[in-house]
Amino acid sequence: MTPAERVPLAPLTSFGVGGAARFFAEARSVEELAELADFARAHALPLRLLASGTNILVPDAGVEALVVRVVMDAVAFEEGSEGRTLVVAEAGARWDALVDAAAARGLWGLENLAGIPGSAGGALVQNIGAYGAEFARVFAYADVVDLASGEERRVLPAEAALGYRTSRFKSRRDLAIVRVAMSLAAEGVPDLAYADLARAKEAGVSLATPVEVARAVRAIRAEKFPATGCAGSFFQNPIVRAEKLAELRARYPELPAYPVGGGAKIPLAWLLDHALHLKGYAEGPVRLFERQPLVVVASEGARAADVEALAREIEARVADAFGIALTREVETFA
Ligand code: NAP
Repeated sequence: MTPAERVPLAPLTSFGVGGAARFFAEARSVEELAELADFARAHALPLRLLASGTNILVPDAGVEALVVRVVMDAVAFEEGSEGRTLVVAEAGARWDALVDAAAARGLWGLENLAGIPGSAGGALVQNIGAYGAEFARVFAYADVVDLASGEERRVLPAEAALGYRTSRFKSRRDLAIVRVAMSLAAEGVPDLAYADLARAKEAGVSLATPVEVARAVRAIRAEKFPATGCAGSFFQNPIVRAEKLAELRARYPELPAYPVGGGAKIPLAWLLDHALHLKGYAEGPVRLFERQPLVVVASEGARAADVEALAREIEARVADAFGIALTREVETFA
């Protein structure tokens, strides 16, 4: 298989900005992945894995690498232990289709993660989370190809080191995820702890089954998040120590906060909106989304440099105003 040269990556990402890959190929099997790793070595180029491109920013100069998209997407349901069901999905399987397939079987565990763009592999890399659910809660194992040796092996939860919107795979670029397995339950109760879902219930929406919860989550998301020109939340919600929370609460008594470990998670959207009044703030063709300022939106004609400039400005303003160093959720693909 010969990779194509100078392939524009913008159409392969949800941001829709950025330059070309020096080489690009799709991998349809573990053997093809190993072949592509050989190709990259022979050309003395790094191999960079691209999933659905829903959490990355491609620089305008492009990427001097062999970019490989894993497109295997088969999904199987297997009997797990203790009456649970294992959903085994190849890395390129579309996440939201998986959520639907599991919910249609009456399986609990993925329903609050409905409507998230991206693939099964990406869900693991990012440890996606929404409405109180997190991929880590259902993760059973992943099969990966070690690109250095071409060998396939199994990664268990301890090695995957899933954390708040992160995993070991963010730093281990030599491991290509080919398959992920999730353990789901036939019995469950809806997790409606987040205010949006509690409100839906109060408004009379039936939320008794995984299908109904998934449908409600999709409807809420469709109201709050743009469909194109973004990569979801651009920044992580900061986790701060008790002293910082007290300092912020003295200035903003209404500031929401949620306990995490020894500290508290603060909704950055609240600070951007209520403290800095930056909802909808725009710099040229890039803006913070009006309905959710954690989301950076690139309009027609925007470049990666425009996104980067706005992101840096937000980082600087938050550092100045609150002494908080933001962590990006979106990765620069380089
Ligand atoms: P929201 O419900 O308005 O909540 C704002 C923030 O407060 C969230 O980020 C959430 O943290 C936190 N929060 C709210 N209720 C909480 C609770 N009961 N316990 C603990 N933490 C709580 O958030 P939103 O912006 O509309 O997003 C809804 C959900 O979808 C959130 O879970 C969000 O993370 C997720 N989402 C993720 C992305 C992405 O690209 N990563 C994009 C859109 C939405 P958490 O973020 O930890 O949940």
